[in-house]
Amino acid sequence: MESRAESYTRGVIYSVWLLGLGLLFVALERIWPRNNTQRLLRKGIFSDLIYIIFNSEYLGILLGLASVELIRLLGLQHLRIGLLSGLGFWGQFFAFFLIFDFLQWCIHNLLHRVGWLWEFHKVHHSIVELDWIGNWRIHWVEIVVYRSLLYVPAALCGFRGEAMFWAGVFNTLVGHFAHANLSWRVGALKYVINSPEMHAWHHNHPDQGPVNRNFALTLSVWDWLFGTAHVPEGRNPARLGFTGIEQYPEQLPGQFVEPFRGLFRKS
Ligand SMILES: [Zn+2]
Ligand SMILES: [Zn+2]
Repeated sequence: MESRAESYTRGVIYSVWLLGLGLLFVALERIWPRNNTQRLLRKGIFSDLIYIIFNSEYLGILLGLASVELIRLLGLQHLRIGLLSGLGFWGQFFAFFLIFDFLQWCIHNLLHRVGWLWEFHKVHHSIVELDWIGNWRIHWVEIVVYRSLLYVPAALCGFRGEAMFWAGVFNTLVGHFAHANLSWRVGALKYVINSPEMHAWHHNHPDQGPVNRNFALTLSVWDWLFGTAHVPEGRNPARLGFTGIEQYPEQLPGQFVEPFRGLFRKS
């Protein structure tokens, strides 16, 4: 079980990591922008800064600890599958990283293909000027779907908090990189890791080309394996978003409510 001191230390490490990464990507986006007309204080930036606080691994860590607690309260700890609890740190880290990256890829597919889930995921796709901060524009319902489908089984499988935390730290780096307004091309690495050139095509507007491609969060290998990769050589989508984005709220209070209104409209 995690001690309070360990949780506190991780909170501090993660805060410093977020701050450092933020400064790094602000600098990189100024030097090598994909879209050089995009301003630092672009549309929706202040709402997106609020999303960082509520949606980054802070909430994940809280929900992770809550899932361990829930299992204890329900008396399910004896159901724990001991198989993975015997692994050392690196074994746990790589097992967690691989298994959960694949599961997240599957959940991301569902977010696009199941009507009511898409209403919530649309918030993430409502960004029209993509940058690293956009990584965190996610509706809280989506976070709860992801985390409860991942963390409760993870705790049951015997994964320890430290492996989950360090995987989260690495995933944050790749998430910032993939969303960044960067002109970088990653060459053959595109078959392994998510990148700005690949993820921009995940956010493309339907009038720019095929949609429901590039579901990768950290590893892109799943998209190449399952035929959902789409990375046109040397091209970037000229427009991001979805059909009807012109009417979608640009700021947080509206984005908070809009998915529920969307569900109501459909029923
Ligand atoms: Zn998506
Ligand atoms: Zn995205």
